[in-house]
Amino acid sequence: MDCIFCKIVKKEVVKEIILENDSFLVFKDIHPKAETHVLIVLKEHIKSVDHVEKKDALVLGEIFLTAKEVAEKLDVSGNYKLAFNVGKEAGQLVDHIHMHLLAGEGKEVVGV
Ligand code: AMP
Ligand code: ZN
Repeated sequence: MDCIFCKIVKKEVVKEIILENDSFLVFKDIHPKAETHVLIVLKEHIKSVDHVEKKDALVLGEIFLTAKEVAEKLDVSGNYKLAFNVGKEAGQLVDHIHMHLLAGEGKEVVGV
């Protein structure tokens, strides 16, 4: 499958990893919209929130714990924004589920 995030997860494309656990990989967005802009990417290929099933709920719930840990690591706890784009018209460019974490200048941006 020709998916850039799958390639990053498999380390076929090298990225500076901010955090990694069993289910998620976190790295900087290549076109940052804020001072801090990272992507929390599920290791499993699921296209978008629209494609989430009940069986995925437990592991996807951990995205918030991962976000909290990333915020602590980047020293932005208590002052950050989390966002998902779902579908092309909403601005989803990469069809592999991921959450944006934005902080610092620019975090108020509506379209991420
Ligand atoms: P979305 O628009 O919600 O699908 O978000 C995809 C994000 O991935 C965009 O903000 C892109 O800038 C970012 N992106 C695309 N390719 C890469 C890459 N190779 N490394 C890091 N970020 C990327
Ligand atoms: Zn993928």
